[in-house]
Amino acid sequence: MGISGPGVEELNAPKVTLILTRYRYLMYSIIMLKTYRYRLYPTAEQAALLNRQFGSVRYVYNWALALATMTYQTQGQGITRFQLDKRLTALKQELPWLQEVASQPLQHALVHLDKAFTRFFREKKGYPRFRSKRGKQSATYLQGVKIHRENSVIYLPKSGWIRTVFSRPFQGTVKTVTVSRVPSSQYFVSVLVEDENQVPESVPEVVDHAVGGDLGLHDFLVLSTGEKYSHPQWLEHELYRLKILQRRLAKTTKGSKNRAKIRRKIAGLHERAANRRLDFLHKLSTDLVRRFDTVCIEDLNVSRMVRNRTLARRITQSGWAEFRRQLEYKAAWSGKHVRVIGRLAPSSRLCVCGYYNHDLTLANRQWDCPECGCHHDRDVLAANNIKRFAFAKHQTGRDTPGGPGEHPLVGDRH
Ligand SMILES: [Zn+2]
Repeated sequence: MGISGPGVEELNAPKVTLILTRYRYLMYSIIMLKTYRYRLYPTAEQAALLNRQFGSVRYVYNWALALATMTYQTQGQGITRFQLDKRLTALKQELPWLQEVASQPLQHALVHLDKAFTRFFREKKGYPRFRSKRGKQSATYLQGVKIHRENSVIYLPKSGWIRTVFSRPFQGTVKTVTVSRVPSSQYFVSVLVEDENQVPESVPEVVDHAVGGDLGLHDFLVLSTGEKYSHPQWLEHELYRLKILQRRLAKTTKGSKNRAKIRRKIAGLHERAANRRLDFLHKLSTDLVRRFDTVCIEDLNVSRMVRNRTLARRITQSGWAEFRRQLEYKAAWSGKHVRVIGRLAPSSRLCVCGYYNHDLTLANRQWDCPECGCHHDRDVLAANNIKRFAFAKHQTGRDTPGGPGEHPLVGDRH
């Protein structure tokens, strides 16, 4: 079973971030932050101003990164935000052109760098990298932005009133406004708002209204109901087009107009493909949360699976992560639940009767249980086991349902 072709409806859906705040002993409130993204149409003159703003933000970011790295290397300790803020004020005196652009985005570059360092230290993500002129450019404003939805314009300090298409109205208090330019030279504005709407009361969890989902490489998702969602087919085509363009790019001379043109084409291809993938994931996650009260999935510890570093594989993995993120916020949004179990359950080998199939290979898509005679589709069985394990954990706090099903947990798939 597949998903119908890509549409644009979901693409305009806001990106949601949930922040859990503990406000009393063991009581949590959910703050819902939504990001609405709109296309921006600056005039040539405004585009030049925006590009100058982006250049300055990038300069400050790279300057601060270099300074932080040097301080760390020479003194063995990092530099604080406070110190950086002070140094930035001094830098602006030295470089008058930094005074010609709006100053908040420059300061906000330091916030971005701070976040990049936090990710590096806490989440063991890569060391912050210098921003390139070729990548996505952005500038974040905290104040001074005016939004006139009726007139389809937005006012940005130092850049003026810029035409915008508000494809979908937003609600809530505006926190930040980020203007960006993607590599294919389109401009966007992202409005981050805090939604004051109440989160609905959570629905009770019942096994009958739950579904298990097995994410995989063979099919994107297989449900415990037996439904299968294959990987979007255009992936192959997209990779093929990309290969051709990259081969053509290699033949061009550096700095030539043709090279820049092909580079823009490649960027455009990536962006369109990313939109289609996102659309596929949105449709699927919306559908699941609508149909079921609890969605049970495995925790795909991606880092352990990154052995094959092909582009197709990377895309699939980022798809799983994004899918889980969407499921979680959409569930929270509608008072529903997502249960995530550890990725060690021998999910495609374990029969309901407790029999454990040691001989199952990747090539066996189906098998028959010698103990009870059950016929199994390995992925549907995995999805059912994920659901079973998720609810067992829910009831007993243990990872296995107990009884004859308790087996040494082995990573057995892919
Ligand atoms: Zn059996």
